[in-house]
Amino acid sequence: MRQRAMIAMGMVLEPDLLIADEPTTALDVTVQAQILELIAELKERLHIGVVLVSHNLGVIADVAQRVMIMYGGRPVEIGARDEIFGEPRHPYSWGLLESIPRPDVRVERLQPIEGSPPSLINIPPGCAFHPRCPHRFAPCDNERPELSGDGPHLDACHLPAAEKVRLWAERRRLFEDAAA
Ligand code: SF4
Repeated sequence: MRQRAMIAMGMVLEPDLLIADEPTTALDVTVQAQILELIAELKERLHIGVVLVSHNLGVIADVAQRVMIMYGGRPVEIGARDEIFGEPRHPYSWGLLESIPRPDVRVERLQPIEGSPPSLINIPPGCAFHPRCPHRFAPCDNERPELSGDGPHLDACHLPAAEKVRLWAERRRLFEDAAA
């Protein structure tokens, strides 16, 4: 009810953009689906943009058109939903996707990302993810990678493009072998 009231209050001034920050947190799946349906309906009916902020990758996979993955307060990967979920390029995105349950793959244990997120008042130098990244190499601890890429799929990682493709394929293979 509180989420519906907040959405109604947000729509009173007829905005062009609705920012929904964790709109499904602490809701059961039925109410979660109703809230997402309400947001989708408002978007279609009023022709507004929606920015949905969520830690729930299942929700993002369901409703997003474009996805921005954030780490340490900065974007580390941006792309269309199918690019982010099908061909992710950043090691943090890989870790996120390996740490959530998938309906099509049965695993004994999910694979967490080692370590803890950084304090936002003490972000590590270079790539903020480097203390937790299994693929870090020479420049990672002192050169901050900028977002780059071809077309609209961008990532902030020093690994060469071909190496990202190879590493993701290898991680997927290991993940699926462990599930078999
Ligand atoms: S820049 Fe380096 S530490 Fe950061 S994600 Fe890429 S490989 Fe890992």
